[in-house]
Amino acid sequence: MNSDKKGRSLQPRVPMPCQPAHERVGNFHEVALGYSREDAMREASRCLQCKKPKCVKGCPVEVQIPQFIAALAKGDVESAYRTLRETNSLPAVCGRVCPQENQCEGACILGAKGQPVAIGRLERYAADTYMALDACDQLTGRPECPLIDPDLKVACIGSGPASLTVAGYLSSRGFKVTVYEALHELGGVLVYGIPEFRLPKSDIVEKEIAALRQQEVEFVTNWVGGRTFSIDDLFAEGYKAVFIGVGAGLPRFLDIPGENLVGVFSANEYLTRVNLGRAYGFPDYDTPVYRGREVTVFGGGNVAMDAARTALRLGAESVRIVYRRTRDEMPARLEELEHAEEEGVRLELLAAPLGFKGDADGRLTAVTLQRMELGEPDASGRRSPRPVEGAVYDLPTDLAVIAVGTRPNPILLEATPGLTLDRRGYIAVDEATGMTSIPGVYAGGDIVTGAATVILAMGAGRRAAKDIEARLRPAT
Ligand SMILES: Cc1cc2nc3c(=O)[nH]c(=O)nc-3n(C[C@H](O)[C@H](O)[C@H](O)COP(=O)(O)OP(=O)(O)OC[C@H]3O[C@@H](n4cnc5c(N)ncnc54)[C@H](O)[C@@H]3O)c2cc1C
Ligand code: SF4
Repeated sequence: MNSDKKGRSLQPRVPMPCQPAHERVGNFHEVALGYSREDAMREASRCLQCKKPKCVKGCPVEVQIPQFIAALAKGDVESAYRTLRETNSLPAVCGRVCPQENQCEGACILGAKGQPVAIGRLERYAADTYMALDACDQLTGRPECPLIDPDLKVACIGSGPASLTVAGYLSSRGFKVTVYEALHELGGVLVYGIPEFRLPKSDIVEKEIAALRQQEVEFVTNWVGGRTFSIDDLFAEGYKAVFIGVGAGLPRFLDIPGENLVGVFSANEYLTRVNLGRAYGFPDYDTPVYRGREVTVFGGGNVAMDAARTALRLGAESVRIVYRRTRDEMPARLEELEHAEEEGVRLELLAAPLGFKGDADGRLTAVTLQRMELGEPDASGRRSPRPVEGAVYDLPTDLAVIAVGTRPNPILLEATPGLTLDRRGYIAVDEATGMTSIPGVYAGGDIVTGAATVILAMGAGRRAAKDIEARLRPAT
Protein backbone atom coordinates (compact mmCIF):
# COMPACT_ATOMS: atom_id res chain seq x y z
CA MET A 1 0.00 0.00 0.00
CA ASN A 2 1.33 3.51 -0.85
CA SER A 3 1.96 5.55 2.30
CA ASP A 4 3.36 8.96 3.15
CA LYS A 5 6.11 9.55 5.79
CA LYS A 6 3.64 9.32 8.61
CA GLY A 7 2.30 6.05 7.28
CA ARG A 8 -0.93 7.46 5.94
CA SER A 9 -2.48 5.49 3.11
CA LEU A 10 -2.30 7.38 -0.16
CA GLN A 11 -4.31 4.87 -2.13
CA PRO A 12 -7.25 6.57 -3.83
CA ARG A 13 -10.64 5.59 -2.46
CA VAL A 14 -12.50 2.83 -4.22
CA PRO A 15 -14.96 4.50 -6.64
CA MET A 16 -18.69 3.99 -6.25
CA PRO A 17 -20.28 2.19 -9.21
CA CYS A 18 -23.17 4.25 -10.62
CA GLN A 19 -25.81 3.96 -13.33
CA PRO A 20 -24.40 5.87 -16.34
CA ALA A 21 -25.81 9.41 -16.51
CA HIS A 22 -27.47 8.94 -19.93
CA GLU A 23 -29.36 5.88 -18.68
CA ARG A 24 -30.37 7.10 -15.27
CA VAL A 25 -32.04 10.31 -16.49
CA GLY A 26 -34.68 8.04 -18.00
CA ASN A 27 -35.60 6.19 -14.80
CA PHE A 28 -36.18 6.58 -11.06
CA HIS A 29 -33.91 3.69 -10.05
CA GLU A 30 -31.12 4.33 -7.59
CA VAL A 31 -28.16 6.18 -9.10
CA ALA A 32 -25.34 4.86 -6.89
CA LEU A 33 -25.22 1.06 -7.07
CA GLY A 34 -23.22 0.23 -3.95
CA TYR A 35 -19.91 -1.53 -3.29
CA SER A 36 -19.26 -5.21 -3.92
CA ARG A 37 -17.71 -7.28 -1.11
CA GLU A 38 -14.26 -6.89 -2.72
CA ASP A 39 -14.72 -3.11 -3.07
CA ALA A 40 -15.78 -2.81 0.57
CA MET A 41 -12.91 -4.89 1.91
CA ARG A 42 -10.39 -2.95 -0.20
CA GLU A 43 -11.77 0.41 0.92
CA ALA A 44 -11.98 -0.71 4.56
CA SER A 45 -8.31 -1.72 4.45
CA ARG A 46 -7.36 1.94 3.78
CA CYS A 47 -8.44 2.88 7.30
CA LEU A 48 -5.47 3.49 9.63
CA GLN A 49 -7.42 2.46 12.76
CA CYS A 50 -6.33 5.67 14.51
CA LYS A 51 -5.97 5.47 18.30
CA LYS A 52 -7.76 8.80 18.67
CA PRO A 53 -10.08 8.67 15.65
CA LYS A 54 -11.15 12.10 14.47
CA CYS A 55 -13.89 10.60 12.32
CA VAL A 56 -15.93 9.55 15.39
CA LYS A 57 -15.89 13.12 16.70
CA GLY A 58 -17.26 14.20 13.32
CA CYS A 59 -20.27 11.91 13.64
CA PRO A 60 -23.25 13.39 15.52
CA VAL A 61 -24.44 9.94 16.65
CA GLU A 62 -20.92 8.77 17.57
CA VAL A 63 -20.74 5.68 15.38
CA GLN A 64 -17.64 3.70 16.39
CA ILE A 65 -16.25 4.08 12.89
CA PRO A 66 -12.83 2.37 13.13
CA GLN A 67 -14.46 -0.61 14.83
CA PHE A 68 -17.07 -1.18 12.13
CA ILE A 69 -14.50 -0.60 9.39
CA ALA A 70 -12.09 -3.11 10.99
CA ALA A 71 -14.85 -5.71 10.94
CA LEU A 72 -15.54 -4.99 7.27
CA ALA A 73 -11.86 -5.26 6.40
CA LYS A 74 -12.08 -8.85 7.69
CA GLY A 75 -15.31 -9.43 5.77
CA ASP A 76 -17.34 -9.64 9.00
CA VAL A 77 -20.48 -7.80 7.90
CA GLU A 78 -22.55 -8.91 10.86
CA SER A 79 -20.33 -7.39 13.51
CA ALA A 80 -19.88 -4.26 11.37
CA TYR A 81 -23.66 -3.90 11.23
CA ARG A 82 -24.06 -4.50 14.96
CA THR A 83 -21.49 -1.79 15.70
CA LEU A 84 -23.35 0.62 13.44
CA ARG A 85 -26.75 -0.18 14.96
CA GLU A 86 -25.46 0.37 18.50
CA THR A 87 -25.58 4.11 17.88
CA ASN A 88 -27.31 4.59 14.53
CA SER A 89 -30.90 3.40 14.00
CA LEU A 90 -30.82 4.14 10.25
CA PRO A 91 -27.42 3.14 8.84
CA ALA A 92 -28.65 2.31 5.31
CA VAL A 93 -30.25 5.76 5.10
CA CYS A 94 -27.23 7.61 6.50
CA GLY A 95 -24.85 5.74 4.21
CA ARG A 96 -26.80 7.26 1.33
CA VAL A 97 -27.79 10.79 2.29
CA CYS A 98 -25.46 12.13 4.98
CA PRO A 99 -23.17 14.96 3.91
CA GLN A 100 -20.15 12.88 4.97
CA GLU A 101 -17.75 15.43 3.52
CA ASN A 102 -18.80 17.80 6.33
CA GLN A 103 -19.05 15.10 9.01
CA CYS A 104 -16.99 11.93 9.57
CA GLU A 105 -15.14 11.99 6.24
CA GLY A 106 -14.41 15.69 6.63
CA ALA A 107 -12.63 14.85 9.89
CA CYS A 108 -10.82 11.69 8.66
CA ILE A 109 -7.07 12.09 8.99
CA LEU A 110 -6.44 10.70 5.51
CA GLY A 111 -8.21 13.72 4.05
CA ALA A 112 -5.24 15.94 4.96
CA LYS A 113 -2.97 14.36 2.35
CA GLY A 114 -5.27 12.43 0.08
CA GLN A 115 -8.79 11.09 0.08
CA PRO A 116 -10.60 10.26 3.32
CA VAL A 117 -11.87 6.74 3.89
CA ALA A 118 -15.26 6.37 2.13
CA ILE A 119 -17.03 5.89 5.45
CA GLY A 120 -20.54 6.52 4.08
CA ARG A 121 -20.13 3.99 1.29
CA LEU A 122 -18.87 1.40 3.78
CA GLU A 123 -21.77 2.14 6.11
CA ARG A 124 -24.18 1.63 3.23
CA TYR A 125 -22.49 -1.63 2.23
CA ALA A 126 -22.65 -3.05 5.76
CA ALA A 127 -26.29 -2.07 6.25
CA ASP A 128 -27.49 -3.22 2.80
CA THR A 129 -25.67 -6.52 2.94
CA TYR A 130 -26.86 -7.37 6.41
CA MET A 131 -30.44 -6.35 5.69
CA ALA A 132 -30.43 -8.34 2.44
CA LEU A 133 -29.65 -11.42 4.52
CA ASP A 134 -32.88 -10.62 6.34
CA ALA A 135 -30.85 -10.85 9.44
CA CYS A 136 -32.78 -8.22 11.40
CA ASP A 137 -34.63 -11.08 13.04
CA GLN A 138 -31.37 -12.37 14.37
CA LEU A 139 -30.37 -8.92 15.48
CA THR A 140 -33.47 -8.19 17.49
CA GLY A 141 -33.79 -11.74 18.77
CA ARG A 142 -30.37 -11.62 20.37
CA PRO A 143 -30.33 -12.73 23.97
CA GLU A 144 -29.19 -9.39 25.34
CA CYS A 145 -32.19 -7.64 23.74
CA PRO A 146 -34.22 -6.46 26.75
CA LEU A 147 -37.88 -7.20 27.30
CA ILE A 148 -40.10 -4.20 26.72
CA ASP A 149 -41.52 -2.68 29.91
CA PRO A 150 -45.12 -1.66 29.04
CA ASP A 151 -45.10 1.01 31.76
CA LEU A 152 -42.09 2.85 30.38
CA LYS A 153 -44.19 4.51 27.69
CA VAL A 154 -42.70 7.20 25.43
CA ALA A 155 -44.50 8.92 22.53
CA CYS A 156 -42.83 10.44 19.48
CA ILE A 157 -44.75 12.89 17.32
CA GLY A 158 -43.65 12.77 13.69
CA SER A 159 -41.83 9.84 12.07
CA GLY A 160 -38.76 11.50 10.52
CA PRO A 161 -35.19 10.55 11.38
CA ALA A 162 -35.23 12.43 14.71
CA SER A 163 -38.19 10.45 16.06
CA LEU A 164 -37.01 7.18 14.52
CA THR A 165 -33.72 7.60 16.37
CA VAL A 166 -35.49 8.19 19.69
CA ALA A 167 -37.62 5.11 18.99
CA GLY A 168 -34.62 2.95 18.06
CA TYR A 169 -32.53 4.01 21.04
CA LEU A 170 -35.24 3.66 23.67
CA SER A 171 -36.87 0.47 22.35
CA SER A 172 -33.51 -1.27 22.32
CA ARG A 173 -33.30 -0.41 26.02
CA GLY A 174 -36.69 -1.79 26.97
CA PHE A 175 -38.94 1.29 26.55
CA LYS A 176 -42.35 1.01 24.93
CA VAL A 177 -42.28 3.61 22.16
CA THR A 178 -45.21 4.72 20.01
CA VAL A 179 -44.62 6.96 16.98
CA TYR A 180 -47.54 9.13 15.83
CA GLU A 181 -47.38 10.39 12.24
CA ALA A 182 -49.71 12.87 10.51
CA LEU A 183 -49.28 11.38 7.01
CA HIS A 184 -50.28 7.93 5.81
CA GLU A 185 -46.64 6.85 5.29
CA LEU A 186 -43.75 6.71 7.75
CA GLY A 187 -40.30 8.25 7.41
CA GLY A 188 -40.83 12.03 7.13
CA VAL A 189 -38.67 13.71 4.51
CA LEU A 190 -36.96 10.37 3.83
CA VAL A 191 -40.21 9.34 2.17
CA TYR A 192 -41.92 12.47 0.90
CA GLY A 193 -38.87 14.62 0.11
CA ILE A 194 -35.79 12.65 -0.94
CA PRO A 195 -36.49 10.98 -4.32
CA GLU A 196 -36.49 7.27 -5.03
CA PHE A 197 -33.34 7.52 -7.18
CA ARG A 198 -31.34 8.58 -4.11
CA LEU A 199 -33.09 6.67 -1.38
CA PRO A 200 -35.26 3.71 -2.42
CA LYS A 201 -38.36 3.63 -0.25
CA SER A 202 -39.36 -0.02 -0.21
CA ASP A 203 -35.82 -1.41 -0.22
CA ILE A 204 -34.30 0.89 2.36
CA VAL A 205 -36.62 3.16 4.37
CA GLU A 206 -39.31 0.51 4.90
CA LYS A 207 -36.70 -2.05 5.94
CA GLU A 208 -35.18 0.31 8.48
CA ILE A 209 -38.67 0.90 9.87
CA ALA A 210 -39.37 -2.84 9.85
CA ALA A 211 -36.28 -3.33 12.02
CA LEU A 212 -37.77 -0.84 14.51
CA ARG A 213 -41.11 -2.68 14.46
CA GLN A 214 -39.21 -5.81 15.41
CA GLN A 215 -37.97 -3.89 18.42
CA GLU A 216 -41.69 -3.49 19.26
CA VAL A 217 -41.93 0.15 18.28
CA GLU A 218 -45.57 0.87 17.48
CA PHE A 219 -46.48 3.20 14.60
CA VAL A 220 -49.75 5.11 14.28
CA THR A 221 -50.39 6.96 10.99
CA ASN A 222 -52.95 9.63 9.99
CA TRP A 223 -52.57 11.15 13.45
CA VAL A 224 -52.05 14.91 13.66
CA GLY A 225 -50.50 16.12 16.91
CA GLY A 226 -52.35 19.25 18.01
CA ARG A 227 -55.52 18.18 16.14
CA THR A 228 -56.24 14.50 16.72
CA PHE A 229 -54.68 14.58 20.20
CA SER A 230 -52.82 17.05 22.34
CA ILE A 231 -49.64 16.48 24.30
CA ASP A 232 -51.69 16.61 27.51
CA ASP A 233 -53.82 13.76 26.12
CA LEU A 234 -50.66 11.68 25.70
CA PHE A 235 -49.59 12.24 29.32
CA ALA A 236 -53.15 11.38 30.40
CA GLU A 237 -52.76 8.08 28.50
CA GLY A 238 -49.74 7.21 30.63
CA TYR A 239 -46.84 8.34 28.46
CA LYS A 240 -43.93 9.34 30.68
CA ALA A 241 -42.19 11.48 28.06
CA VAL A 242 -43.06 12.96 24.68
CA PHE A 243 -40.60 13.72 21.86
CA ILE A 244 -41.61 16.26 19.22
CA GLY A 245 -39.94 15.57 15.86
CA VAL A 246 -42.37 17.22 13.46
CA GLY A 247 -39.77 18.76 11.12
CA ALA A 248 -40.13 22.09 9.36
CA GLY A 249 -42.37 21.21 6.48
CA LEU A 250 -43.98 24.50 5.42
CA PRO A 251 -42.37 25.90 2.26
CA ARG A 252 -40.95 29.39 1.95
CA PHE A 253 -41.67 31.36 -1.20
CA LEU A 254 -39.79 34.08 -3.06
CA ASP A 255 -42.38 36.82 -2.49
CA ILE A 256 -42.00 38.19 -6.00
CA PRO A 257 -44.65 39.11 -8.60
CA GLY A 258 -46.18 36.25 -10.59
CA GLU A 259 -45.70 33.55 -7.98
CA ASN A 260 -49.37 32.56 -8.37
CA LEU A 261 -49.04 31.74 -12.08
CA VAL A 262 -49.87 28.21 -13.21
CA GLY A 263 -46.56 26.37 -13.35
CA VAL A 264 -44.95 27.81 -10.20
CA PHE A 265 -44.60 25.22 -7.42
CA SER A 266 -42.92 24.90 -4.07
CA ALA A 267 -40.34 22.09 -4.06
CA ASN A 268 -42.30 20.65 -1.16
CA GLU A 269 -45.45 20.17 -3.27
CA TYR A 270 -43.58 19.12 -6.39
CA LEU A 271 -41.48 16.46 -4.65
CA THR A 272 -44.29 15.23 -2.40
CA ARG A 273 -46.52 14.64 -5.43
CA VAL A 274 -43.78 12.74 -7.21
CA ASN A 275 -42.43 10.76 -4.23
CA LEU A 276 -45.30 10.16 -1.82
CA GLY A 277 -48.03 10.35 -4.48
CA ARG A 278 -45.89 8.26 -6.91
CA ALA A 279 -46.79 10.80 -9.60
CA TYR A 280 -43.90 9.53 -11.72
CA GLY A 281 -46.15 6.51 -12.31
CA PHE A 282 -49.13 8.59 -13.54
CA PRO A 283 -51.67 7.42 -14.86
CA ASP A 284 -51.05 4.08 -13.04
CA TYR A 285 -51.05 6.18 -9.85
CA ASP A 286 -53.75 8.81 -9.62
CA THR A 287 -51.52 11.77 -8.65
CA PRO A 288 -50.92 13.95 -11.72
CA VAL A 289 -47.70 15.91 -12.05
CA TYR A 290 -46.96 19.10 -13.95
CA ARG A 291 -44.32 18.21 -16.54
CA GLY A 292 -42.28 21.19 -17.67
CA ARG A 293 -40.29 21.50 -20.88
CA GLU A 294 -38.02 24.33 -19.75
CA VAL A 295 -37.68 24.00 -16.02
CA THR A 296 -36.14 26.48 -13.59
CA VAL A 297 -35.36 25.57 -10.00
CA PHE A 298 -34.50 28.21 -7.38
CA GLY A 299 -32.08 27.38 -4.53
CA GLY A 300 -28.71 25.68 -4.08
CA GLY A 301 -29.29 22.89 -1.55
CA ASN A 302 -30.17 19.20 -1.73
CA VAL A 303 -33.82 20.07 -2.25
CA ALA A 304 -33.02 22.09 -5.37
CA MET A 305 -30.84 19.25 -6.75
CA ASP A 306 -33.59 16.72 -6.11
CA ALA A 307 -36.24 18.86 -7.80
CA ALA A 308 -34.02 19.50 -10.83
CA ARG A 309 -33.08 15.85 -11.27
CA THR A 310 -36.70 14.81 -10.82
CA ALA A 311 -37.78 17.23 -13.56
CA LEU A 312 -35.18 15.72 -15.92
CA ARG A 313 -36.48 12.24 -15.22
CA LEU A 314 -40.02 13.42 -15.94
CA GLY A 315 -38.93 14.43 -19.44
CA ALA A 316 -37.89 18.11 -19.27
CA GLU A 317 -35.84 19.29 -22.24
CA SER A 318 -33.79 21.71 -20.19
CA VAL A 319 -33.38 22.18 -16.44
CA ARG A 320 -31.59 25.13 -14.86
CA ILE A 321 -30.83 25.80 -11.22
CA VAL A 322 -30.82 29.52 -10.42
CA TYR A 323 -28.62 30.42 -7.44
CA ARG A 324 -27.61 33.82 -6.03
CA ARG A 325 -24.03 32.89 -5.20
CA THR A 326 -21.41 30.69 -6.91
CA ARG A 327 -21.07 26.90 -7.16
CA ASP A 328 -18.61 26.87 -4.23
CA GLU A 329 -21.23 28.27 -1.87
CA MET A 330 -23.95 25.78 -2.83
CA PRO A 331 -24.97 23.93 0.35
CA ALA A 332 -25.95 20.69 -1.46
CA ARG A 333 -23.98 17.49 -0.90
CA LEU A 334 -21.10 17.50 -3.35
CA GLU A 335 -22.11 14.13 -4.79
CA GLU A 336 -25.64 15.40 -5.57
CA LEU A 337 -24.28 18.49 -7.28
CA GLU A 338 -21.85 16.41 -9.37
CA HIS A 339 -24.54 13.89 -10.26
CA ALA A 340 -26.94 16.69 -11.27
CA GLU A 341 -24.32 18.23 -13.57
CA GLU A 342 -23.45 14.85 -15.09
CA GLU A 343 -27.12 14.36 -15.87
CA GLY A 344 -27.34 17.67 -17.73
CA VAL A 345 -28.70 20.10 -15.13
CA ARG A 346 -27.29 23.58 -15.89
CA LEU A 347 -26.34 26.10 -13.22
CA GLU A 348 -27.43 29.72 -13.61
CA LEU A 349 -25.11 31.15 -10.97
CA LEU A 350 -24.98 34.66 -9.51
CA ALA A 351 -28.60 35.28 -10.51
CA ALA A 352 -31.64 36.19 -8.39
CA PRO A 353 -35.30 36.10 -9.46
CA LEU A 354 -37.17 39.43 -9.67
CA GLY A 355 -40.54 38.20 -10.99
CA PHE A 356 -42.40 35.67 -13.11
CA LYS A 357 -44.17 36.43 -16.39
CA GLY A 358 -47.21 34.62 -17.78
CA ASP A 359 -49.46 34.44 -20.85
CA ALA A 360 -53.09 35.55 -21.15
CA ASP A 361 -54.25 32.25 -19.58
CA GLY A 362 -52.16 32.84 -16.47
CA ARG A 363 -49.54 30.22 -17.39
CA LEU A 364 -45.88 30.77 -16.61
CA THR A 365 -43.72 31.74 -19.61
CA ALA A 366 -40.56 33.33 -18.19
CA VAL A 367 -38.67 34.46 -15.14
CA THR A 368 -36.90 37.79 -14.88
CA LEU A 369 -33.46 37.49 -13.29
CA GLN A 370 -31.09 40.00 -11.76
CA ARG A 371 -27.38 39.35 -12.33
CA MET A 372 -25.48 39.34 -9.01
CA GLU A 373 -21.85 39.59 -7.93
CA LEU A 374 -20.16 38.67 -4.68
CA GLY A 375 -19.25 41.58 -2.41
CA GLU A 376 -16.58 41.80 0.28
CA PRO A 377 -16.64 39.14 3.03
CA ASP A 378 -18.90 40.06 5.97
CA ALA A 379 -18.11 39.48 9.68
CA SER A 380 -18.72 35.74 9.23
CA GLY A 381 -16.26 35.66 6.34
CA ARG A 382 -19.05 34.96 3.84
CA ARG A 383 -19.24 37.06 0.69
CA SER A 384 -22.78 38.33 0.20
CA PRO A 385 -24.28 38.60 -3.27
CA ARG A 386 -25.21 42.09 -4.49
CA PRO A 387 -27.02 43.17 -7.67
CA VAL A 388 -25.06 44.27 -10.73
CA GLU A 389 -26.72 47.50 -11.74
CA GLY A 390 -28.80 47.30 -14.92
CA ALA A 391 -28.03 43.60 -15.51
CA VAL A 392 -31.57 42.23 -15.74
CA TYR A 393 -32.64 39.53 -18.20
CA ASP A 394 -35.45 37.05 -18.91
CA LEU A 395 -35.18 33.27 -19.03
CA PRO A 396 -38.00 31.36 -20.75
CA THR A 397 -39.55 28.77 -18.44
CA ASP A 398 -42.83 26.86 -18.14
CA LEU A 399 -42.20 25.17 -14.76
CA ALA A 400 -40.58 26.90 -11.79
CA VAL A 401 -39.80 25.03 -8.59
CA ILE A 402 -38.96 27.06 -5.50
CA ALA A 403 -36.50 25.40 -3.12
CA VAL A 404 -35.38 28.26 -0.90
CA GLY A 405 -36.08 26.75 2.51
CA THR A 406 -38.90 25.87 4.86
CA ARG A 407 -40.47 27.02 8.11
CA PRO A 408 -42.26 25.26 10.95
CA ASN A 409 -45.84 24.06 10.66
CA PRO A 410 -47.72 25.85 13.49
CA ILE A 411 -50.46 23.25 14.17
CA LEU A 412 -48.87 21.45 17.11
CA LEU A 413 -46.97 24.49 18.36
CA GLU A 414 -50.11 26.63 18.64
CA ALA A 415 -52.05 23.81 20.30
CA THR A 416 -49.44 23.37 23.05
CA PRO A 417 -49.62 26.12 25.68
CA GLY A 418 -46.40 26.64 27.61
CA LEU A 419 -44.16 25.52 24.75
CA THR A 420 -41.53 28.23 24.34
CA LEU A 421 -40.40 29.07 20.82
CA ASP A 422 -37.24 30.88 19.79
CA ARG A 423 -37.34 34.19 17.96
CA ARG A 424 -37.48 32.41 14.58
CA GLY A 425 -40.54 30.40 15.62
CA TYR A 426 -38.80 27.05 16.19
CA ILE A 427 -39.03 25.14 19.48
CA ALA A 428 -36.52 26.35 22.08
CA VAL A 429 -34.71 23.47 23.84
CA ASP A 430 -31.91 22.81 26.25
CA GLU A 431 -29.09 22.02 23.79
CA ALA A 432 -27.59 19.23 25.87
CA THR A 433 -30.80 17.30 26.45
CA GLY A 434 -33.41 18.50 23.96
CA MET A 435 -35.83 19.25 26.84
CA THR A 436 -38.38 21.96 26.01
CA SER A 437 -39.95 24.47 28.40
CA ILE A 438 -42.49 21.77 29.35
CA PRO A 439 -41.11 19.14 31.73
CA GLY A 440 -41.05 15.70 30.12
CA VAL A 441 -41.50 17.14 26.61
CA TYR A 442 -38.47 16.99 24.30
CA ALA A 443 -37.91 18.20 20.76
CA GLY A 444 -35.26 17.75 18.10
CA GLY A 445 -34.49 17.82 14.39
CA ASP A 446 -35.65 20.47 11.93
CA ILE A 447 -38.38 21.74 14.29
CA VAL A 448 -35.57 22.99 16.55
CA THR A 449 -32.75 23.85 14.14
CA GLY A 450 -34.70 24.79 11.02
CA ALA A 451 -34.08 22.78 7.84
CA ALA A 452 -30.82 20.88 8.39
CA THR A 453 -29.68 17.31 7.79
CA VAL A 454 -30.73 13.76 8.57
CA ILE A 455 -27.74 13.10 10.78
CA LEU A 456 -28.17 16.30 12.80
CA ALA A 457 -31.82 15.33 13.39
CA MET A 458 -30.63 11.89 14.48
CA GLY A 459 -27.99 13.38 16.78
CA ALA A 460 -30.68 15.48 18.45
CA GLY A 461 -32.89 12.40 18.79
CA ARG A 462 -30.07 10.51 20.43
CA ARG A 463 -29.35 13.27 22.96
CA ALA A 464 -33.02 13.45 23.90
CA ALA A 465 -33.36 9.67 24.14
CA LYS A 466 -30.34 9.48 26.45
CA ASP A 467 -31.87 12.09 28.74
CA ILE A 468 -35.26 10.38 28.71
CA GLU A 469 -33.58 7.13 29.70
CA ALA A 470 -31.55 8.80 32.46
CA ARG A 471 -34.61 10.55 33.85
CA LEU A 472 -37.09 7.68 33.64
CA ARG A 473 -34.73 4.90 34.58
CA PRO A 474 -31.91 6.35 36.66
CA ALA A 475 -28.88 4.02 36.97
CA THR A 476 -29.19 1.89 40.09
C1 LIG B 1 -35.96 17.16 -0.79
C2 LIG B 1 -35.08 17.06 0.40
C3 LIG B 1 -33.82 16.48 0.27
C4 LIG B 1 -32.98 16.38 1.37
N1 LIG B 1 -31.77 15.76 1.22
C5 LIG B 1 -30.98 15.57 2.29
C6 LIG B 1 -29.75 14.84 2.17
O1 LIG B 1 -29.35 14.43 1.11
N2 LIG B 1 -29.01 14.65 3.28
C7 LIG B 1 -29.44 15.10 4.49
O2 LIG B 1 -28.75 14.86 5.48
N3 LIG B 1 -30.58 15.81 4.64
C8 LIG B 1 -31.37 16.04 3.57
N4 LIG B 1 -32.54 16.73 3.70
C9 LIG B 1 -32.91 17.27 5.02
C10 LIG B 1 -33.41 16.17 5.94
O3 LIG B 1 -34.25 15.30 5.24
C11 LIG B 1 -34.10 16.76 7.16
O4 LIG B 1 -33.18 17.61 7.81
C12 LIG B 1 -34.55 15.67 8.13
O5 LIG B 1 -35.44 14.77 7.49
C13 LIG B 1 -35.22 16.28 9.36
O6 LIG B 1 -35.71 15.23 10.14
P1 LIG B 1 -36.87 15.45 11.23
O7 LIG B 1 -37.02 14.13 11.90
O8 LIG B 1 -36.57 16.64 12.04
O9 LIG B 1 -38.18 15.81 10.40
P2 LIG B 1 -38.89 15.30 9.07
O10 LIG B 1 -38.06 14.36 8.29
O11 LIG B 1 -39.38 16.53 8.42
O12 LIG B 1 -40.13 14.48 9.63
C14 LIG B 1 -41.16 15.12 10.35
C15 LIG B 1 -42.41 14.25 10.30
O13 LIG B 1 -43.36 14.78 11.22
C16 LIG B 1 -44.65 14.73 10.64
N5 LIG B 1 -45.49 15.73 11.29
C17 LIG B 1 -45.48 17.08 11.12
N6 LIG B 1 -46.40 17.65 11.91
C18 LIG B 1 -46.99 16.65 12.61
C19 LIG B 1 -48.01 16.62 13.59
N7 LIG B 1 -48.58 17.73 14.02
N8 LIG B 1 -48.39 15.40 14.08
C20 LIG B 1 -47.80 14.25 13.65
N9 LIG B 1 -46.82 14.23 12.71
C21 LIG B 1 -46.41 15.43 12.21
C22 LIG B 1 -44.38 15.01 9.17
O14 LIG B 1 -45.45 14.53 8.36
C23 LIG B 1 -43.08 14.24 8.95
O15 LIG B 1 -43.35 12.91 8.57
C24 LIG B 1 -33.40 16.89 2.63
C25 LIG B 1 -34.65 17.50 2.76
C26 LIG B 1 -35.49 17.59 1.67
C27 LIG B 1 -36.83 18.24 1.82
S1 SF4 C 1 -9.95 9.11 10.99
FE1 SF4 C 1 -10.05 8.00 8.99
S2 SF4 C 1 -8.25 6.66 9.04
FE2 SF4 C 1 -8.59 7.31 11.20
S3 SF4 C 1 -9.93 5.71 12.09
FE3 SF4 C 1 -11.32 7.29 11.28
S4 SF4 C 1 -11.81 6.56 9.17
FE4 SF4 C 1 -9.96 5.40 9.83
